[in-house]
Amino acid sequence: MTSSQLSGKHAIAIRGAFLDLVNDPFHAPETECVRYLPDGLLVVEDGIIRAFGAYQALQETYGQWPTVEYGDRLILPGLIDCHIHYPQTPVIASYGAQLMEWLDTYTFPAEGKFHDAEYARAIADFFLDELLRNGTTTALVLTTIFPESVTAFFEAAEQRNLRMIAGQMLMSRYAPDFLIDDPHTAAAQTREQIQTWHNKGRLRYAITPRFAITSTPEELMLVGKLKAEFPDVYVHTHLSENAQEIELTAELFPECKDYLQVYEQFGLVGDRSIFAHCIHLSESELERMAAAGGAIAFCPTSNLFLGSGLFPLERAKTDIRVGLATDVGGGSSFSMFYTMTEAYKIAQLQGYSLSAFRALYLATLGAAETLDLQDTIGNFEVGKEADFIVLDRHATPLLALRNAKPLPQTLAEVSEQLFSLMVLGDDRLIHATHIAGQRVGI
Ligand SMILES: [Zn+2]
Repeated sequence: MTSSQLSGKHAIAIRGAFLDLVNDPFHAPETECVRYLPDGLLVVEDGIIRAFGAYQALQETYGQWPTVEYGDRLILPGLIDCHIHYPQTPVIASYGAQLMEWLDTYTFPAEGKFHDAEYARAIADFFLDELLRNGTTTALVLTTIFPESVTAFFEAAEQRNLRMIAGQMLMSRYAPDFLIDDPHTAAAQTREQIQTWHNKGRLRYAITPRFAITSTPEELMLVGKLKAEFPDVYVHTHLSENAQEIELTAELFPECKDYLQVYEQFGLVGDRSIFAHCIHLSESELERMAAAGGAIAFCPTSNLFLGSGLFPLERAKTDIRVGLATDVGGGSSFSMFYTMTEAYKIAQLQGYSLSAFRALYLATLGAAETLDLQDTIGNFEVGKEADFIVLDRHATPLLALRNAKPLPQTLAEVSEQLFSLMVLGDDRLIHATHIAGQRVGI
């Protein structure tokens, strides 16, 4: 039995081994942050978590509910990708260029196709299914300058009942003619889309200038006004990814003392602003970002693939919210597990180790906090939306050998197994993905 009607509501219970984070392990001992229930029960009603705890404690109340048993598999909250470009899906894994050349050679031609609504919808459908196959249930997503690409994405996400944030890409200079928008038209389109899509069901809107180079000051000023008019929409852009990009930004905005000030001067840095990369920020920029409540999307596979640099995770996490992100197609994988492993390597190269629990936090509760969705998703707290995934610890012969032991019982055992899943795992790990309690076909 997978679901049933109970008192007229859609009701389901899930029994198995549950692992989630309840606090930030960068700021508290892991024993106070990690929750592990080797035999737990998650009770879901109309997509919302109604009860969660040890099976023994809950069975009397919920024992009669239709229950799915996941045995010795491991159940995690749905993974959250804090920065990803859906139109770049067809050019993932393109050879041999750093950021600016990569944009010109591969990305811009790919994005140029998205004026075609049918094509945009086909890629949006593929993209969302690929996310779900990889266990990613929420993402902050970039589109293109074409409104068709935004509508296609939101409609595809709405149809799947996904919690997604996206917005129209804004670009009014330093791009091929076919990717240049008119700032006034683009701002008007953004305004209309905010009114159509922001807070519609599980969807939210992000004002999305690509980066400082491709938006004229006028365009940034116009969308800064929109942010003031709709303060609860998000701002989503790139910041300080690549040396050449930083240099050109300084030339284009000579009145600004640094890159962050470009966004600051237009009112675009606040607690619903998410900046991808932030690899080369000065201490002053980091301090101002922290004071303004801005958040960072850390994109390890992209940073390595494009040779952009090593993100200073440890420094950023002292006072800034950081979430993990794939940055496909500059990033080289849809898998958040692969992304966690690359984050681990970036930390290693800077002389510290990223624990499995910290990595998982960056892809679940920490990512939810980065996206200001911590009251809605990110762990198994009662009242949150029931997006979760089920991992097969024996998904490949190598994983079966590595995790031959039974389900872990102690936190140390969980840490050890989780780390091996993270390093060896990919989409094959994902046995099931549940959206609002319901299992989706992947
Ligand atoms: Zn990006």
